[in-house]
Amino acid sequence: MATTHNLGFPRIGAKRELKFALEAYWKGESTRDDLVRVGADLRARHWRDQAGLDLAPVGDFAFYDQVLDMSFTLGNLPERVRDFHGDALDNYFRVARGRSAKGTEDHAACCGGVAAGEMTKWFDTNYHYIVPEFDAGTEFKLDATRLLAQLAEAKDQGVKAKPVIIGPVTYLALGKAKDHSDKLALLPRLLPVYADLLAALADQGVKWVQIDEPILVTELDSTWRDAFVQAYEALNTGAVKLLLATYFGQLKENLDLAATLRVQGIHLDAINARDEVDALVRALPADRVVSLGVVNGRNIWKTDLEAVLAWLEPLAQTLGDRLWIAPSCSLLHVPVDLGGERKLDGEVKSWLAFAVQKLEEIRVLATALSQGRAAVAADLAANAQAIAARRASPRVNNPAVKAAVARIDAALGRRKSPFGERTGKQAALLNLPLFPTTTIGSFPQTKEIRLARSQFKAGAIDAAAYTQAMRNEIARSVREQEALGLDVLVHGEAERNDMVEYFGEQLDGYVFSQGGWVQSYGSRCVKPPILFGDISRPKAMTVDWISYAASLTKKPMKGMLTGPVTILNWSFVRDDQPRATSCLQLALAIRGEVLDLEKAGIRVIQIDEAALREGLPLRRSQWREYLDWAVESFRITANGVADETQIHTHMCYSEFNDIIASIADMDADVITIETSRSAMELLDAFDDFNYPNQIGPGVYDIHSPNIPTEDHIVTLMKKAAARIPADRLWVNPDCGLKTRQWNEVIPALTSMVSAAKTLRATVS
Ligand code: GLN
Ligand code: ZN
Repeated sequence: MATTHNLGFPRIGAKRELKFALEAYWKGESTRDDLVRVGADLRARHWRDQAGLDLAPVGDFAFYDQVLDMSFTLGNLPERVRDFHGDALDNYFRVARGRSAKGTEDHAACCGGVAAGEMTKWFDTNYHYIVPEFDAGTEFKLDATRLLAQLAEAKDQGVKAKPVIIGPVTYLALGKAKDHSDKLALLPRLLPVYADLLAALADQGVKWVQIDEPILVTELDSTWRDAFVQAYEALNTGAVKLLLATYFGQLKENLDLAATLRVQGIHLDAINARDEVDALVRALPADRVVSLGVVNGRNIWKTDLEAVLAWLEPLAQTLGDRLWIAPSCSLLHVPVDLGGERKLDGEVKSWLAFAVQKLEEIRVLATALSQGRAAVAADLAANAQAIAARRASPRVNNPAVKAAVARIDAALGRRKSPFGERTGKQAALLNLPLFPTTTIGSFPQTKEIRLARSQFKAGAIDAAAYTQAMRNEIARSVREQEALGLDVLVHGEAERNDMVEYFGEQLDGYVFSQGGWVQSYGSRCVKPPILFGDISRPKAMTVDWISYAASLTKKPMKGMLTGPVTILNWSFVRDDQPRATSCLQLALAIRGEVLDLEKAGIRVIQIDEAALREGLPLRRSQWREYLDWAVESFRITANGVADETQIHTHMCYSEFNDIIASIADMDADVITIETSRSAMELLDAFDDFNYPNQIGPGVYDIHSPNIPTEDHIVTLMKKAAARIPADRLWVNPDCGLKTRQWNEVIPALTSMVSAAKTLRATVS
C-alpha cells in the first residue's frame, strides 16, 4: 500500500497571518509572545490540514526562510551578528533583514542594524532564500532547539511526523564562500553536525527524515558528485531512515549517482521527471523506498487523476509497500486553500487546486491504489468531469489565437532595416542630444493615487472620477519632467499597481484570485495572475493614457509596456501547452499594443523584460532552447514597427555575461539595465562582446533613498564611456521610481540631468 506524505506546506497562512504577525512584531506593535503564538497556531492548523497523510512534514515552518533556519540549526551565523545581545530569534531577523523588532534594536546603540544576508532565488522558483555565508574558517555547531521544539509540538498533536532538513551538499552548494575558498573543504566539518542532528531526531523516536538535495537536478562536476557519495556514506549511521528528496527537474546524468547513495529512499519529481521513473526503479536496490511526486507542487491546476492512475497502478503492483506518493515538491510555491475564493470565476475555479486540494488529490490516488478505483468513484468522476470541461472549454481554446500563432514566420520578428540604418532615421525624428536622459517608466505611487484606486475599487468614485485622478497624476509627472529638463519623457504609470497584473486584467485568458498568495521572501507575498486560456487583447490597453501624456508636451513621450516573457514568468501558467506557446500568444497580444501606440503617434516604446533572466532553466544545457523562444517572443512583440520608431527594453539586473548574445539578438534600439550598485563593473560583459545598439547603464540605485551627486554620476558614465562609444549611451536611473517619494526623485533626477550636461560638454 502506498504511503502518502508531503514535502512541505505553505507557512504564510491562508490569510497571510504570518506576514501580518511578523510585520507587527518588527514594528514593535506586538510582542514576541504574540508572534510565537501565531507561528504555533499556523503549524497546528497546517498539520490538521495534512491529517489525512501517513507522514506530515515537520520543520518546514520558518519565521523567515527555511535555508536561514538550517544555517541556525548548523550554528552557521555570520560573524557580524555573533556578539549581539538578544536571543537567537533577534539574531535570526538581523541576518534575514538587517534588524530585529523595533524595541530590541532601540535600547542599545550597538545595533542600529547590520548588513542583511544576501537573498537569492530558490532554484527556478520565485521564492528567495538567505544565502548561507562561509569562509575557510567556518565551523559548525548543532543547535537543534527549533527543530526539536517543533517535533515535540507535532508529537503532542498526534502528528505522524517526518522532519524535513536541507541536505549537506545542497546547503554548501547554495551558500557563498566570502573569501572565495573552496566550500567543499567544509564538508568534513559539516557532516558530523548532520550526524548529531540525525541522532538527536532518532532520540525523539523519529523513523524517517526527509533530506532535501534538489541540487541533484542541476549539472554537477565530479567534485560535487564525489561529495554526495562521501556525505551519504557518513550519514548512513542507522539512526534514522533517510528519504533523499530531489525536485524541480530531471536527475539525468545524476540518476545513477542518486540511486547508489546510501539512503533508504528517494523522492523524484514525477511531474518534471516522469520519464526517469522506470530507470530509477531499475537502478535502485530492491529495499529502497521510491517516493513519486505525482501532483504538481508548482502550479494551481487539478491533477488528471485517471491519467496518473493509469501509469501508477502497474508501478504500485511492482513496488508494493516501497511506493510513496506526494506532491512533486514542497507546496510552499502554491497558495493555501481554494476554499477561500469567493469571487473567482466559477468555471475556472472548478479546474484549480491549491495546497489543501492537492493533498486531497494525494489521498484519492492512494485510496484508489490500495482499495481500487471503485472506492473513490465519486471523486474520480468529479475530477474527470473537471478535466474534460477544461480541455473542451471555448474559453480556454480560441481558434483565432491558435491560427495566428501557427501563422508566425521569421519575418514577423524582424525589423525592416538593421540598427545601423534605423538609428539615423530615429535621430532625425527625435532630435536628441548626446547622452539623452530618460527614466524607466514609473513615478512615485503617491497617497493620492492609492486613495483614488481604493475608492474606485470600493465603488466610492466612478470611472470618470478615477480617470480624472489618474490624469492629474500623469499631468504632474509630465510637468515635473519638463521642469527637470529630461529628454525622453514617460507618463509615470500612475494607473498601474503592478506591471503584470495591469496587462493581465485587460487580456482575455487571465483570471485573478483574491487570496492566492505565495511567499516570495520573508513577509513578502505575491499573487501571481492565472493564465488559463489562449491569450488575446480585446482592445488597446495603454493608448489613451499615453496619448494623453503625449498631448501635454512637445518632448518625445515613451510608451511603456510589459514584455511577453516577463508576463509569462510572473504568472501561474498553463500545463496543457508549452510555455513557449503561451509566450508567443502573449507576444502577439502585446505586439498589437505596440502597433496601436505607434499609430497613435508614439515613436519611442519601451517593452520591459525585467524577468527574462529568471526564466533560465536550471540546467545550462537547456538555456539555448529557452532563450530562443524568449528572444523570438520579444522580437515578435517589438519588431513590427517602422524604422523611425525607437524600441527600448529594460532589464532589472546586469549579469549579462552569459546571455549577452541573446540580449543583442532582441535587437532593441536601446536597453536600460542595472549597473549602479557595482560602479559599472557589471559592464564587463561589454568588454568581450561588442553590443551593437544603444545602452542606458543605470546611474543610481532607486532602491536607496540616498540622492546621487552629479559628480558621482559623471564618474560612472565616464567609466561606461570607456567601454561603449559615447554616442550610444543614455543616462537613466536603475529602475522605475514608483517606490520613491517625489522629494527624493526630484533632487536625484536634477543631479542626473546636470551630469548629462557636464558629460555633453566634456566627453565626445
Ligand atoms: N517600467 C517599470 C517601472 O518603471 C519597470 C519596472 C521593473 O523593471 N521592475 O516601474
Ligand atoms: Zn527594473
